[in-house]
Amino acid sequence: MKILAIREVTVPIGAAMSNAAIAFDSMTASALAIVTDRVQNGMPVTGYAFDSIGRYGKGALLRERFIPRLLAASPDSLLDDNGLIDPEACWRAAMANEKDGGHGERPGAIGLLDAALWDARAKLESKPLWRCLADHYPDCATGASPKISLYGSCGHYRPGRTSDVLDALAAEVKRAGDAGYPLVKIKLGGNNIADDAARVEAASRALGGRIAVDANGRLDASIADAWLDRMTQLDVAWVEEPASALDYAALGRYASQARLPIATGENLFSFDDARNLLRYGGLQKERDRVQVDVLLAYGVPEYVRILREYRAAGWAHSAFVPHAGHLFAAHLVAAFGLGMHEAAPDASLPYGGLWDGTAVRDGRTSIPSHEGAGYEAKKNLYAILQPLSSPN
Ligand SMILES: [Mg+2]
Repeated sequence: MKILAIREVTVPIGAAMSNAAIAFDSMTASALAIVTDRVQNGMPVTGYAFDSIGRYGKGALLRERFIPRLLAASPDSLLDDNGLIDPEACWRAAMANEKDGGHGERPGAIGLLDAALWDARAKLESKPLWRCLADHYPDCATGASPKISLYGSCGHYRPGRTSDVLDALAAEVKRAGDAGYPLVKIKLGGNNIADDAARVEAASRALGGRIAVDANGRLDASIADAWLDRMTQLDVAWVEEPASALDYAALGRYASQARLPIATGENLFSFDDARNLLRYGGLQKERDRVQVDVLLAYGVPEYVRILREYRAAGWAHSAFVPHAGHLFAAHLVAAFGLGMHEAAPDASLPYGGLWDGTAVRDGRTSIPSHEGAGYEAKKNLYAILQPLSSPN
């Protein structure tokens, strides 16, 4: 078999919202399709991928470098002993002649290619993606199960007066609670203790439960001690990214003084960075959480390396809570028995919600049995992906 075509389109997904670090007005994302010559159910087997949100599309890197490299490889060199597409062989072909380190945006482009290859591979094996991944990496799959835990992720900053904003925040969090998420994460500014506490209190009241908070790397160091104390008083479930992503010394300081769980890692895009977090970030394996995003960080082969490194240091898979809420991450959580899936509960967005008709109850769901990642079963997302699937 062989790959016939690989197509990428960069789509606008801008929204009038922001977190402590960035606004999303001009945000874009890459949609990708890998079309093969294998026909199943009367259709060419096609692997799809859709970006993680928050880091912009990867079109230039994909079109100029990684897609041509993969298409130029000998088709047989990309197959395994069963004659099926081998995502790890494809990974090595795409990464040929790439220097070590300095990872930049490259991991996100490779991550998208890898995700689409795994979607195709799972379809070729007529398995849901999570089962396919679990079978390929048995040492990581002792906790494999289609039943996963989820938390809701929302509460971005939106334009408006403070009172209106708090009302809107409370309404959004209540909708998430009503949709089956007993644990919800919101954004905080990290620069004003009273303002942030008011957001937590409003959200917590609306939910009737605990709130996790995300400072997006912008906690003001001059108020950090008091801010962390206040978050402890408010009994937040965890504090996410108190320090800038690569400032391990600051993170280590916060992790040692905090009396509540720390979560971080969504902006670390490589094994190298994740290992530095392990070595120098001061995280506590029984308490803290690692949020590396498989799509942004070179895909499954790199994620497996990271999992193995942490496991060797005594970490449990339950400490891994991947960023971003895309469907690929949900399969990863199921395949490797990870702690939780981050879900953006608004299913009206192509990157929000889960597969159409999937119910979430008490923060749990079961991954449906579609072959692959099941992008076809989320209509508003498949409307973006499907046009890329023509074999010509
Ligand atoms: Mg975050």
